[in-house]
Amino acid sequence: MTTSGLTDPTQRLRQVLELERNKKFRNQAVIGGLDPFIERHLQENPFAPNHPFLAIMRQLPTQGYCSLHPIQRRRVVEELLAALEKSPLPVTQGRKPVADATPRPQSSHATKRKLRPNRPTGPNSPVVDFAGVNSTNAQRLSRLGVRTASDLLKLYPYRYSDFANVRPIAELVEGEDQTVLATVWAASSTRVGRRKASEAIVGDDTGTLRVIWWGQTHIGRQLAEGKKIALSGRVKVYRGRRQMESPEWELVGTDSVHTGRLVPMYPGTEGLPQRLVRRIAKEAVDKLADQMTDLLPKEVRVRQRLMPLSEAIRQIHFPDSLERAEAARRRIAFEELLLIQIGVLKRKQLAQAGGKAPILQLPKETLDGFVDSLPFKLTGAQRNCISELIKDLSKDLPMNRLLQGDVGSGKTVVATVGLLASVASGLQGAIMAPTEILAEQHYRTLTSLLAGKRNDLWANLMTVPYLKRPLRVALLTGSKSGKKKEAAQEAIARGETDIAIGTQALIQEDVSFPRLGLVVVDEQHRFGVHQRAALREKADSPPHVLVMTATPIPRTLALTLYGDLDISIMDEMPPDRPPVKTHRLRPEQRKRAYDFTRDQIVDGRQAYIICPLVEESEVIAARSAIQEYERLSKDIFPDLRIGILHGRLSSSEKESVMRSFRSGDLDILVSTAVVEVGVDVPNATVMLVEGADRFGLAQLHQFRGRVRRSQLQAYCLLLSESRSPESQERLTIMETVYDGFKLAEEDLRLRGPGEFFGTRQSGLPDLQVAKVTDAHLIAVTRSEATRLLEDDPNLTQGEHLQLRKAVTDIWEHVTSEAS
Ligand code: ADP
Ligand code: MG
Repeated sequence: MTTSGLTDPTQRLRQVLELERNKKFRNQAVIGGLDPFIERHLQENPFAPNHPFLAIMRQLPTQGYCSLHPIQRRRVVEELLAALEKSPLPVTQGRKPVADATPRPQSSHATKRKLRPNRPTGPNSPVVDFAGVNSTNAQRLSRLGVRTASDLLKLYPYRYSDFANVRPIAELVEGEDQTVLATVWAASSTRVGRRKASEAIVGDDTGTLRVIWWGQTHIGRQLAEGKKIALSGRVKVYRGRRQMESPEWELVGTDSVHTGRLVPMYPGTEGLPQRLVRRIAKEAVDKLADQMTDLLPKEVRVRQRLMPLSEAIRQIHFPDSLERAEAARRRIAFEELLLIQIGVLKRKQLAQAGGKAPILQLPKETLDGFVDSLPFKLTGAQRNCISELIKDLSKDLPMNRLLQGDVGSGKTVVATVGLLASVASGLQGAIMAPTEILAEQHYRTLTSLLAGKRNDLWANLMTVPYLKRPLRVALLTGSKSGKKKEAAQEAIARGETDIAIGTQALIQEDVSFPRLGLVVVDEQHRFGVHQRAALREKADSPPHVLVMTATPIPRTLALTLYGDLDISIMDEMPPDRPPVKTHRLRPEQRKRAYDFTRDQIVDGRQAYIICPLVEESEVIAARSAIQEYERLSKDIFPDLRIGILHGRLSSSEKESVMRSFRSGDLDILVSTAVVEVGVDVPNATVMLVEGADRFGLAQLHQFRGRVRRSQLQAYCLLLSESRSPESQERLTIMETVYDGFKLAEEDLRLRGPGEFFGTRQSGLPDLQVAKVTDAHLIAVTRSEATRLLEDDPNLTQGEHLQLRKAVTDIWEHVTSEAS
């Protein structure tokens, strides 16, 4: 159902967003930028409070769209457009658009309003008790879900305008965003050159300033001479004179609620001026912040250094600084996530009430023996994750743990400890990888880790001193020949194989594990949920499951929040691994890249050259890799030894190429994206990526991880033909951000908050303040929730009761089933 183009006010919104897209997300579609435009639009044409459009707006950083990176902007715009597509209608249909922001004549409602003697007294006071709120406004507020004073406290600003950094006109600096407080000397709607505009001359004690608003002729009419206004924007010099173009502006009142500070901007609704909402929010905060019950037990608050609720309420509405606002957001998000986590854990408890997993014990001497045999010292992160793992495995509750760690952080060691626990307890372990190359790599890494300093590789039957029994490790991949495969499967089925390593082939119908204790799934985002489930069903009693990933992608976060996975985080790299120096290069710098690569090879190092991503098909990708390989071998590096790897090679061909590269028989490996995960060749120090703009940030980071494998300084060279500012800036992110978690977050933001909607479909409570990018907060609230439930499983003790009530409110089904 659609309304006609004329009466559908989202039409204009859509047009502007589409224009913004055409203008390459420079925030130039409307004068003054998208933020004020959308704000105005929402005020005049409100959406229902649960409209996806608003959810996206709420996920924006506090400074708004303008503060986003253009790539992020693109995602946001696309998301917003999609949201309009999905639910095109605002709350009120067919309403006449409001012409402009001039105050409307007082409605009859307003004139009839009597002074109210009963001012708001408590959290449940209706909003009409606030001065200035008549029944019309109350109705408008209720569309935002605000009916009472306490609802008002939960109407969070979606950003803040910084009117705190006020400067006298004489001290304005060219090119910076800043605010002035000035008096209007003259103002008019006019034409500047051929363009319609409003123009004003404003002045303070120190000087005068010309201000132009392109297009917005109504402003000139609104600005009366002698009025004091706050202007916030960037100063330019034009013909020797300083001027501000299309700044944000506000009349300066006596009330510091609106100016001279960080000013909250609330989600708008029809006819509800920001100023009114701000004022009543201020009143609610002043009166009620101290009356609200803080759900968080004091102990948790102290441990997590969270501000008390009253302070958080004050600071999220009227922050002293952006840092305080963020701390307040963190406090409120913490509570939101904690309630969700308690609910999820309750649900998990119910699920675990099903089957019991085998108890896996790892004798201390076995663990010590293993750790001592390693040629390196474990990192602190590895030690922590190992102890979390061992603790889980020693219980008969099926473990479901996610191990997140940057490429090269050493996750395999942690997994190996788990597999040892399984073997030491007389059970089998399995590790499953998304590609054959990676499965083979795991096989090598694992056998080499188990062999320790002795380094006897490729042994199927290993003697491991600290196990006091031989260890049988098998590699099972799809491409093994029929007979070999059958034999391997039979060995697994007879229970002779202790540790099976493989690809999806491991979960095919005809493989059965009689005594499966632990399953490790690597790079889980490549596996579907039901594939994991299938694996879990391979045994009579459910095995423990450890999922590993180097890319905390939204799906993972969603799983973390809403699934029943526990998380371990590896936030530390083995020592002496210098970050990979990353440079983006223009096509004309390709020769320099080749020269550099050659220098490294002359120094005894090796290099990867990744061909551009070809979406169409593996066949085309292979063809382009072959062409590149031929060009490089003939024209560029005729004297060097070059190998090629792509998805069309048989697995034995792949294996032999990888083996030659690993053993140093090849200098350069030309490859399609198949090399992305897991391949470990410490001597390789150059990763040259062609068409780098075609890959996602997470994927580029994976590539880069390939060469951060030793104490050698490694280099990642990103070649890009694309001159578009987006791709250039994307690559700049790669040059400057080295932390995989930060990059993943960046990627997540670039992908936009679409993931948020996935959560809505899952029937879970909405997030008001928390973000899906709050990975750390998600982990912390999870562990606090666990702790709380361990101490007091039904949350019936003292302070916990109110928490229990809140959880029940949002998770009715969960707690009622549990009790
Ligand atoms: P990822 O987390 O990417 O799976 P791997 O487990 O493959 O990383 O480990 C990467 C490399 O680092 C391997 O060669 C491994 O032997 C080595 N490694 C693991 N832990 C350490 C450590 N604590 N100190 C030094 N090297 C380590
Ligand atoms: Mg790995």
